[in-house]
Amino acid sequence: MQKVPSETLPINRKERLIIPYLELPLRDPEERICDFDDIHIPLTPEEAQREASRCIHCPDPAPCMQACPVNNDIPSAMWLIEQGRFLEAAALYRETSSMPEICSRVCPHEVLCQGGCVRSAYDGPVQTGMLERFVTDYERRVKGGLVEVPVGEPTGHKVAVVGAGPAGLSCAEQLRQRGHDVTIFDAKPAPGGLLVYGIPNFKLPKDVVFARVDDLKHAGVKFVFNTKIGVDKTIDDLFNEGFDAVFIGVGANVDAPMKVEGNDLNGVYPATEFLVRANVPPEIWPQEYQGKGKLEVEGKKVIVVGGGDTAADCLRTSVRLKAAEVTCVYRRSEAEMPGGEKDRTWAKEEGARYMFLTQPVKFIGDEEGNLKAVECVKMKLGEPDESGRRRPIPIEGSNFIMEADIVVLAIGYWPDETIGKTTPGLKTYNWGLIVTDPETGETTRPGVYAGGDAATGPDLVVTAVAAGRRAAAAIHDYLLRLDKEEGKSEQPAP
Ligand SMILES: Cc1cc2nc3c(=O)[nH]c(=O)nc-3n(C[C@H](O)[C@H](O)[C@H](O)COP(=O)(O)OP(=O)(O)OC[C@H]3O[C@@H](n4cnc5c(N)ncnc54)[C@H](O)[C@@H]3O)c2cc1C
Repeated sequence: MQKVPSETLPINRKERLIIPYLELPLRDPEERICDFDDIHIPLTPEEAQREASRCIHCPDPAPCMQACPVNNDIPSAMWLIEQGRFLEAAALYRETSSMPEICSRVCPHEVLCQGGCVRSAYDGPVQTGMLERFVTDYERRVKGGLVEVPVGEPTGHKVAVVGAGPAGLSCAEQLRQRGHDVTIFDAKPAPGGLLVYGIPNFKLPKDVVFARVDDLKHAGVKFVFNTKIGVDKTIDDLFNEGFDAVFIGVGANVDAPMKVEGNDLNGVYPATEFLVRANVPPEIWPQEYQGKGKLEVEGKKVIVVGGGDTAADCLRTSVRLKAAEVTCVYRRSEAEMPGGEKDRTWAKEEGARYMFLTQPVKFIGDEEGNLKAVECVKMKLGEPDESGRRRPIPIEGSNFIMEADIVVLAIGYWPDETIGKTTPGLKTYNWGLIVTDPETGETTRPGVYAGGDAATGPDLVVTAVAAGRRAAAAIHDYLLRLDKEEGKSEQPAP
């Protein structure tokens, strides 16, 4: 339900329709490839107010709101922003989203809220993503860096959250709001999951993630790092330590391998290693990369294999590391590419080259085991496969060689089987994804909930946020049921 009824609009719909579309201000490609800073130029308050006034306030429920996986009340936020009531708009976003400052930066808005905007079909959608970002950045500035998370009356229940990515952090925020004592365990030395150990700074500055984590710490959420559940301790150990429920938000972080000759040559990297060693400060690198040093990319020829957002991030990272040539090799055509068009456009603007219908078949090394070239084959498209996309078929005799010093494999992610294998009663599917009720995150093991990429496979930040929040509500209900069974009085809802 929208908070603001459309009858209370400060100006009428006709006046709104003549306000022109705001082309998002971006830094010049020549300038932005020289650093890892954000490519967007922040909106001014006047620009934000004018852009928000373009919202024509569709009847409730508005399509933008329905297209948003956390159902942000976007029309009401637009109504507040156009009047300059930025803090109220930020507070409204925080009612439905646990990390609006992050989703506003990384969501594929063109297929979610902005894709739903009726103005898309005419002069262009209201730039709701940039406006969400504007008000949440404004809020943090005004509040001196800390955004208070409301904390519920203590319930006496302890909940363990496994994984400090968007699913785990959002679940923790919601559990804390309901008064539970929350501890997050993560295998890595720092929080954020792929927000820190995947998505590069030029899309999502790490400070933005760490600021949100600090909000949670301030609200009393505890963090235990360098602890891999299933290895250092099990889910059963957590229950034995006194936790009453567990949320698993461990993502799907295992790089899919490419089974071609030469994939073990020096210079062939999985996307995760490439992005961590290029984008993450060494002091928070996971143990497996400690001592390896920053990647040397300057002057080298880089080939990125894959067609998703990860591939675009690796291309744009390579450009910023001053590679001599940066080429994306993808086995289908541009129309079948899974990655967002926005990221691809920016990669092209920044100098990355795309080769479609091309598949590597062999990585070729020198006598010392260093990559020097890639043998590729040209592809054509056949009938659709089980994914619905047309199947790529190699064209016989079309093989050719491309020189390369570095290959980055960005061909997808698999789940990690560790937790499934060490947790009795926890059902998994597809090599380790956790079976859940999608509405509640409930697993086959009582008291254990899961969500985000660990349950769905690789998806989006906002869907992980939504899953973490849904699971927190279900965990709260479960704990209330436990209290009832044990004869304790019910805790008040937040
Ligand atoms: C390079 C890249 C770019 C992306 N770009 C975008 C984008 O622009 N927009 C978008 O919406 N999405 C993007 N995504 C997808 C998005 O990042 C994920 O869908 C999202 O982070 C999933 O959240 P999660 O919390 O489920 O898992 P994750 O973010 O993967 O977090 C899981 C956490 O669990 C920890 N963990 C794993 N196993 C254990 C264990 N056994 N014990 C303890 N801790 C454990 C990990 O260390 C990690 O911190 C991108 C992904 C990648 C790889």
